[in-house]
Amino acid sequence: MTHPILIVGAGQAGVQAAEALRAGGYEGPLILLGDEPYGPYHRPPLSKAWLAGEMDAAQLVMRAPEMLARKAIELRTNVKVTAIDRAAKTVALSDGSTLPYSGLVLATGSTPRTLPLPGGNAQGVLALRSRDDASAMAERMAVCSERQLPLVVIGGGFIGLEVAATARKKGLTVTVLEAAPRLLGRVLAPMLSDWYAELHRGHGVQLVLGAQIDEIVTDHANQATGVRLKDGTLYPAGLVVVGIGVNAHDELARAAGLECERGIVVDACGRTSDPRIVAAGDCTARRLSDGSLLRLESVQNATEQGKSAAAALLGQERPFTATPWFWSDQYDKKLQMAGLSMGAEHWAVRGDMASGSFSVYHYKGDQLIAADSINASRDHLQVRKLLDAGVSPTPQQASDAGFDLNSLLAK
Ligand code: FAD
Repeated sequence: MTHPILIVGAGQAGVQAAEALRAGGYEGPLILLGDEPYGPYHRPPLSKAWLAGEMDAAQLVMRAPEMLARKAIELRTNVKVTAIDRAAKTVALSDGSTLPYSGLVLATGSTPRTLPLPGGNAQGVLALRSRDDASAMAERMAVCSERQLPLVVIGGGFIGLEVAATARKKGLTVTVLEAAPRLLGRVLAPMLSDWYAELHRGHGVQLVLGAQIDEIVTDHANQATGVRLKDGTLYPAGLVVVGIGVNAHDELARAAGLECERGIVVDACGRTSDPRIVAAGDCTARRLSDGSLLRLESVQNATEQGKSAAAALLGQERPFTATPWFWSDQYDKKLQMAGLSMGAEHWAVRGDMASGSFSVYHYKGDQLIAADSINASRDHLQVRKLLDAGVSPTPQQASDAGFDLNSLLAK
């Protein structure tokens, strides 16, 4: 009897891998194992429309169980894979059973970092990763709204800022505490960080940059009541949202002896150090040709790595080499990012930043390496083509809104 291919994690990468296995011609048994009580659902709305209460449960569903069943993908929810025995090619499940595998896809995602500070585990200190986390956050926001208690967000990254924007929509008083001197400093150009700071301030968010947190203050019932900075300033809070990044969920792989470093180390095809095990999505760290590791946490990365990993299990070569992209929605502004901006040395702006529709192009020397577009989808799609083709407009061409960047592609 053929042993099944098992997929651990019924999220974005897991679903893509399952469907790509079928699309690639795999006809054997295929089991998608997820430890959440739900079938696959979309995570990005959790900090946006879902948290705002503007979406119903049906819209959050990524693939209905019937749709998976039609492709002969067996979905098992509420079950956690607790160990991998690579020699026996079996996995142990939380229900006490064991499953053999002919191939294994690890798509276990990531977990929010916690605050290693006094009060970090108090009631009302919440992180956001899952549908249940979002429901708990929405419930607490409703209480804050009713009792006029403020929200403090720790971390001015994408999730923290999206939660802040959603909370302002709901009328909550919001403070964002960011340790760095600017918002999203690792990915955005300085002028775009400043633009985001103004955007949030303009919507009534109190923004504190360079904030050094000392403790979460709690009451006798261990309920968070505020956040105190090292300089003694106290920000009262009925809810504290911690958005300080995620850690790859690589414990299973580590325990099984797979190479892990900031995530499960994979090549461009999603292959791990074991030929029968591939990995995809937030749980991975991709080894690049120069030996460095790239960690991406995005829908595109999970989707593309899921497809590459499935191909690798079928003995096919499908490296994920496309330009990375990502988006974030805050208020009525859609940010679309293309490329990787690390190491950018100078920037060119296309369009008028004051108009709220523009793009910032990142350059390393005379090479275009990335671009961030605000309410400018055409720029975003165009720059992805330029980056895919390795074509760099000069900064002068990029900042000249009258210059047709497509003309460079035609050449
Ligand atoms: P996940 O979708 O996290 O799926 C992993 C699944 O595996 C989870 O269900 C987990 O519970 C399960 N699992 C883990 N361990 C086990 C185990 N041992 N056994 C069984 N199951 C297990 N990306 C964007 O590109 N744009 C956005 O705007 C955006 N917004 C986001 C907003 C929020 C609030 C969040 C949380 C993420 C957002 N992302 C966004 C990121 C994007 O959702 C993730 O990069 C993507 O979901 C990663 O997919 P994944 O399959 O690797 O992990």
